[in-house]
Amino acid sequence: MTVPIVHHPAYCAQLDKSHRFPMDKFRAVAALIRDEGLLEAGRYHKPRPAPFEWLALAHDSSYVEQVLFCQAPDKIAREIGFPMTEDIALRARCATGGTVLTGYLALEHGIACNTAGGSHHARHAQGAGFCVFNDVAVAIRVMQTDGVVKRALVIDLDVHQGDGTADIFTGDDTVFTFSMHARKNYPVRKVPSDLDIDLEDCLGDEAYLERLSEILPKLLKEADFDIVFFNAGVDPFEGDRLGRLALSRQGLQNRDELVIQAVRRAGFPLACVIGGGYSDDIEELADRHVTLHRVASQLHVKAPARPLEAPA
Ligand SMILES: [Zn+2]
Repeated sequence: MTVPIVHHPAYCAQLDKSHRFPMDKFRAVAALIRDEGLLEAGRYHKPRPAPFEWLALAHDSSYVEQVLFCQAPDKIAREIGFPMTEDIALRARCATGGTVLTGYLALEHGIACNTAGGSHHARHAQGAGFCVFNDVAVAIRVMQTDGVVKRALVIDLDVHQGDGTADIFTGDDTVFTFSMHARKNYPVRKVPSDLDIDLEDCLGDEAYLERLSEILPKLLKEADFDIVFFNAGVDPFEGDRLGRLALSRQGLQNRDELVIQAVRRAGFPLACVIGGGYSDDIEELADRHVTLHRVASQLHVKAPARPLEAPA
């Protein structure tokens, strides 16, 4: 059985070659997944760009309008770190539509992965830190509004704290937000999640994985979740330009195995997004991100979806 994987060519928007965001990774990730034969019948699931109505479920409607009409004020554009062009707006809409589709595919197949997503610094009021729309938050809101899920869990293991997701779901008992990140990293002002684990710099594989394996079983008992979203950011890697946690490539792989196994054993559908990863070496970075898709594919073959219910 193959894991459904979601991709849209617009994930890779036009940016100046000199821009510090590694935009080309989205093209390289998609190419690598295809080359490694991880796609069912060689095909991606292609999302529709998220419409205004979806985006406004998690964001201030005037901010959504500003982005869609390329009229975001300079101050907001600076906080996001992208020029607010049509191309960037389309990319954000497609990545968000992609995470919505990933959520739906996870309900159907037990697990699904996007080749983008995890824009966790985008808050209700506006984007920040290379995040225009909070795709995971929008996906949860769309699925709740459609009546297909009630309770959701967000497992955010990107090296940066999930402040935007925490902001959007503050005071909302239906969504449990968990973020494990480097304490000294961006954002300076963190918004409290339901559970935050702040880690010291240069932690390394062993201590990191030990901490995570203590937390996961408790987390999965918090509620009978209808869906779990996993932000598998690869910036905790020792060679990452913005990371601080000194995880090895093997450590990242073990981390993804730990999360996917724990969530699937608990019987919850799992929707995965790629999160952050920063390097000038695009091929290395893509290879690092595809860890998620490889692990998901391997474990899905071994342990297909949730157990079939016996006929009544
Ligand atoms: Zn990050």
